[in-house]
Amino acid sequence: MNEIITLNNISYKYTDEENQYALDNISFSIEKGEWIAIIGPNGSGKSTLAKTINGLVEPESGEVKVGEFDLNEQNIWSIREMVGMVFQNPDNQFVGSTVQDDVAFGLENLGIPRDQMVERVHDALEKVNMLEFAEREPARLSGGQKQRVAIAGIVALQPEIMILDEATSMLDPKGREEVLRTVKEVKERENLSVISITHDIDEAAAANRIIVMRAGKLVKEGTPEEIFSYGEQLIEMGLDLPFP
Ligand code: ADP
Ligand code: MG
Repeated sequence: MNEIITLNNISYKYTDEENQYALDNISFSIEKGEWIAIIGPNGSGKSTLAKTINGLVEPESGEVKVGEFDLNEQNIWSIREMVGMVFQNPDNQFVGSTVQDDVAFGLENLGIPRDQMVERVHDALEKVNMLEFAEREPARLSGGQKQRVAIAGIVALQPEIMILDEATSMLDPKGREEVLRTVKEVKERENLSVISITHDIDEAAAANRIIVMRAGKLVKEGTPEEIFSYGEQLIEMGLDLPFP
């Protein structure tokens, strides 16, 4: 066993009301190099779960371990360096006025020397097949291209884990397909562990394992074949995946 993420009995609630748990006693672990898809209806706790992994949400109880680090105040920045996140709305994640400036932003913050920075930006854009758009304004890209730039920004930081929180939800089918292909390629080349929260059947099918959440609980876990075989049962649970 070579676990990169371990969650142990995580619970969390946003409000003071009793029994309003956004996360209700969740435990699971992810092996290095594994791809986990998290599916479940809106409001089931998927995003909250993802946020516990890099400390954006601090669990009320339970333990989080990422790599060799227990998640606590002392280790939080080491953990954040290991975890890159891509969010749903491609327009909310740009800070640079060109694609290359945008990808460079995180590296600038880390104080990476200029020549290394240029090389890492070039390399990251090449890996997501966006090098030809390096000088383009992010606003002038398609949704799929924007998400590939967001992925390049993460790849440039050389993390070990990439979390995609509905990163393909706002894209058209072509955009979804190109982002999914990019995630597959980057995962292999960079030896990343991936967590993708998704409503897309192809994205869920690309994972090694699927976790199903409902009302803050982890209700099912299995290979895509196992999970898809539940078919109708999952739809009755409020899932909107078009199961085959
Ligand atoms: P999902 O990502 O599966 O749609 P979330 O993790 O966003 O679910 O939400 C889980 C639960 O927590 C929902 O009941 C949601 O309304 C609630 N919630 C999420 N974010 C907040 C917040 N910032 N403040 C209060 N409640 C929240
Ligand atoms: Mg969400």
